[in-house]
Amino acid sequence: MRKYVIMGVQGSGKGTQSQMLAADLDLVHIGVGDIFRWNVQNHTKLGAQVRRTMAAGELVGDDLVESVVRDRLTQHDWNFGFIIDGFPRNRPQAEFFLESYDIDGVIVLDLPDSEVRRRVLNRRLCADCGMDYHLIDSSPKVTGRCDSCGGDLVTREDDTEEALAVRLLGLSREDGPGDRAFPSQGVRVHRGRAAGTRCGPGADQEVSRAGPDDR
Ligand SMILES: [Zn+2]
Repeated sequence: MRKYVIMGVQGSGKGTQSQMLAADLDLVHIGVGDIFRWNVQNHTKLGAQVRRTMAAGELVGDDLVESVVRDRLTQHDWNFGFIIDGFPRNRPQAEFFLESYDIDGVIVLDLPDSEVRRRVLNRRLCADCGMDYHLIDSSPKVTGRCDSCGGDLVTREDDTEEALAVRLLGLSREDGPGDRAFPSQGVRVHRGRAAGTRCGPGADQEVSRAGPDDR
């Protein structure tokens, strides 16, 4: 059983890295942002609450995030472990998490603010099927249209310059590079640069070493 946390500002490629690790190690990828987005798209009560918060460029409150994570993890569909992305975001959440789960490692993706900005502000999402696009790195064939379903490409509500500024500020204030959010309780921290498609030299290796097979 391996349990990892992946951290880094939105736009640093956490989702992509998590999915690759999940595939390699047979883990369940839990993207907290995805859970919230699903709720927004499906107009649930939780979704409405999240939409209001994000429209104001603020972060969803700790209580709400914690209860969503708790609910998700009680499904126990993660036989070989999980990699969680988007949680914890700050010290109180990290403490809650460490009390409840035995985390094997924290993976931190570093990325300069300028690159985060370039990635996030060019990100688009198909309003119908949810496929991700990037106007520079993976642009659609027809401007503004989804390649697979022809749906409208939209900007996520939290991908505006203003919301991004709030996030970058909140991140440096609250959990900085990520690992400082974790009290030193023997949690291993693996740093990697988020530049390419992999975490960086040695990152995978370290991750596999971190999972001391098997409790
Ligand atoms: Zn689509």
